[in-house]
Amino acid sequence: MSDNSGEVDSSCCKLDQLAIICYPDPRLRKRCAPITRFDEDLVALSKRLFELMHADNGVGLAASQVGALVRMFVMNLTGKEEDARVFVNPAIHDAQGNVSSEEGCLSLPDIHVDVRRAAQCRITAQDVRGTPFTLEGEGLVCRVWQHETDHLNGTLLLDRMGPTDRIATRKIVRGLEDAFREKKPARPRVVTAGKRHTDGPVL
Ligand SMILES: [Zn+2]
Repeated sequence: MSDNSGEVDSSCCKLDQLAIICYPDPRLRKRCAPITRFDEDLVALSKRLFELMHADNGVGLAASQVGALVRMFVMNLTGKEEDARVFVNPAIHDAQGNVSSEEGCLSLPDIHVDVRRAAQCRITAQDVRGTPFTLEGEGLVCRVWQHETDHLNGTLLLDRMGPTDRIATRKIVRGLEDAFREKKPARPRVVTAGKRHTDGPVL
């Protein structure tokens, strides 16, 4: 999909073959390149991101989570068409406050942990046609922006969670590492025993 040059080239990879990749795929650890070309390939990639996000009941998805190493994410908190938004070359500003809440990640199936994030912030980005915009947000919206921007810098929930969650999720993390090494699909999600946390957004 991308050679990390900031251009999306659909000729190298079929969009419908793109799928959400899971930890420890090394592409999730790359810093993504700024997007420099706003064209139909970029529009097509954004549509595919929405498809994959909705198919997995997520509310946000970064391009790097499908192996396209460019600075773009999509988001839709309500599932309504009018709430779908594409963020290209996003940057977070004026982060304020500090709040801990549960999060999941589409690239880390079955991991739901508390993550401390800024409570409110401003985000600047471009839409899929290149038009710049600025939004202010707090709470869940602000959390999603931070989670997805982390993805574009190669940062994962694993880097943000506390020592207790690190121990509690060790088995699941090891399972993902084994699956990747054995080239087995990490998805669909394994059904975990006991109480399943589903409160937080999955991104
Ligand atoms: Zn994620």
